Amino acid sequence: MLRTSTRLAAVAVLSVLSVVAFVVDRPAAQGQGGVTALTGVRIIDGTGRAPIEQGTIVIGNGRITAAGASSSVQVPAGATRVDLSGKTVMPGMVNAHAHPQNQTKTMPMRGDITRRLRMYANYGVTTAVSLGQVSDEETAEVVKLRDEQDRPGPGLDRARVYTSGPSIRGLKTVDEVRKTVDRYVDMMKVDRIKTHVTPQMTPDQYAALIDEGHKRGLRVNAHIFSLAEAKMVFDRGVDVIAHSIRDQDVPASFAADLKRRNIGYIPTLTRDLSVFVYESTPAFLKDPFFLKGMSVYGEQVKLVTDPTFQEKVRNDKNAQSIKQALEQANRNLKILSDAGVTIGMGTDSGTDEGRWPGYFEQVEIEMMAKAGMSPMQVIVAATSGAATVSKLDQVGTIAPGKAADLLVLDANPLQDIRNTRQINSVWIAGRRLGASGTN
Ligand SMILES: [Zn+2]
Repeated sequence: MLRTSTRLAAVAVLSVLSVVAFVVDRPAAQGQGGVTALTGVRIIDGTGRAPIEQGTIVIGNGRITAAGASSSVQVPAGATRVDLSGKTVMPGMVNAHAHPQNQTKTMPMRGDITRRLRMYANYGVTTAVSLGQVSDEETAEVVKLRDEQDRPGPGLDRARVYTSGPSIRGLKTVDEVRKTVDRYVDMMKVDRIKTHVTPQMTPDQYAALIDEGHKRGLRVNAHIFSLAEAKMVFDRGVDVIAHSIRDQDVPASFAADLKRRNIGYIPTLTRDLSVFVYESTPAFLKDPFFLKGMSVYGEQVKLVTDPTFQEKVRNDKNAQSIKQALEQANRNLKILSDAGVTIGMGTDSGTDEGRWPGYFEQVEIEMMAKAGMSPMQVIVAATSGAATVSKLDQVGTIAPGKAADLLVLDANPLQDIRNTRQINSVWIAGRRLGASGTN
């Protein structure tokens, strides 16, 4: 079926979507008192520790209550046992730089954002941290979804979401900057701050923005391009460098500074890929694993395969210059990872053309591995690293007390990072979704 469909033109592929789409909403497995035990499974806990080859995870009330070697974990009487022999479990992935946005104008905002969050989950991304909404109205919808996810109820069938609201940029005075941050916190109820570093704002204004964010208890994420921009916000107390440094090698001294201050670094390699890759039709648009997302991706596939769009990309000097910037980003990721800086996986997916929520996180981690990180380092960056960068305490590792957000795989990703595509099942808050990458 899939082989046949890959031979078809992209437009024709749209017509077979329903056949290759993810199946969702299989009811959760739950035993007496709602306790579930996953047994016989290889556990990669997300901290970077060596895996446990024969492990058991006990889940109750949406949380992990015990996890460890099967010989040391007692399964409560009456628990539903799920035998996962031969499988590998890792924490659900955390995307530290996402954009769950309303991009389909013909659909209600909430429904569109929700199906995008569900698509993240289908691909194993169980938390999406939004570093930018397009409007206050959209922010309000995402904040509602965020607040609903922790309420008792039937269980989540989508990625958890957090949001900065629209990026704060282009303001004129320090006073305006502080008032804007206050409005975001008090009126919009955002849980983090995002800013773009541009020449329109002065270093003093960035200092005020970061200071006000901290006074209100929020982390501040900065969109940068150059080393100078990264240093400017670093010197003013920023928490997260939300894109790669892409103009030159990061000097060892600055890498050491980032590590010392525990500043998070989000490479967003696929963001840069997306800027130039649609100069022609990339092979991945016919990847069966990509086609599983077509219910959401379809509209934009039409756009990025349009010859006029592709010609525009070919003739765009900026788009072409990003090729070199991406090579620089790859080099800096290796430098910073080797220096021990906390790397958080992030993609910029969900905004602009051809940045696929779900699929691109899978591409991102493959690119991180190609940049020179080990599969274990990549897994850490996509789980606990991204959670640390995003200051989310409940996700990113497999340990008692953490949310039972899990990615069960048919193959071991420590052998090949692409094995994160061999999805057996995805669990959110102890509930198993029906997504399957293998059947
Ligand atoms: Zn972004």
